[in-house]
Amino acid sequence: MQQGKIIIFSAPSGAGKTTIVKHLLSINPQLNFSISACTRDKRGRTEENGKDYYFITPEEFKKKISNDEFVEWEEVYEGAFYGTLKSEIQRIWDSGKHVILDVDVKGGLSIKNFYKNQALAVFVKPPSIEELASRLTARNTDSASSISSRVFKAKFELSFEDQFDKVIVNDNLEKAFAEAEKLVNDFIGTKQPANV
Ligand code: ADP
Ligand code: 5GP
Repeated sequence: MQQGKIIIFSAPSGAGKTTIVKHLLSINPQLNFSISACTRDKRGRTEENGKDYYFITPEEFKKKISNDEFVEWEEVYEGAFYGTLKSEIQRIWDSGKHVILDVDVKGGLSIKNFYKNQALAVFVKPPSIEELASRLTARNTDSASSISSRVFKAKFELSFEDQFDKVIVNDNLEKAFAEAEKLVNDFIGTKQPANV
């Protein structure tokens, strides 16, 4: 069974982990994105099933939990379940690439604990809570109540920073990109997974 490495990006919602992960994927062909399963509604024009997430029903999600198909899963927001599928990690390793994923803070620590030194856990920190709230508003993808629950949760999530291997403060985006590129290159080197 071929095994590569796993790079985890976790952050409070709105801190910029998706932006950073998309950038890394666009410049590094050794990486492939692990698509999570989730039960929330698809964001109309911006998201695709099987690309951003596998959008499934709560019933299908529960079935996958009982079949032990997840590395980890969380009810990230009330009524919204998200989980990392074992089959997805293996699919990427079998294709000869390393896994990169973007999960909430608790899920990130669970994955790190599962894969230990095979995984690099990176925490993306917003410059301030005020800036986080304004980015979520400007992103224009969530309702006012969803934004306030994300900001409320962020205050708690920031207390987990010390448990991650590395922290990137995402203030200036170009600087955050450069820091992320260096962390990834130092961790995976230039070797293909088959040689890891
Ligand atoms: P997350 O995946 O952590 O929820 P996103 O990557 O979606 O966060 O970023 C939230 C919003 O903030 C997006 O609209 C994104 O374009 C914007 N953003 C990301 N990084 C920065 C930054 N350094 N400065 C200003 N806006 C940013
Ligand atoms: P969004 O609804 O904004 O796409 O994502 C909400 C949160 O769920 C984000 O913090 C995202 O990183 C997290 N998330 C996405 N996939 C997973 C997953 O598989 N497991 C966990 N624990 N969180 C996830």
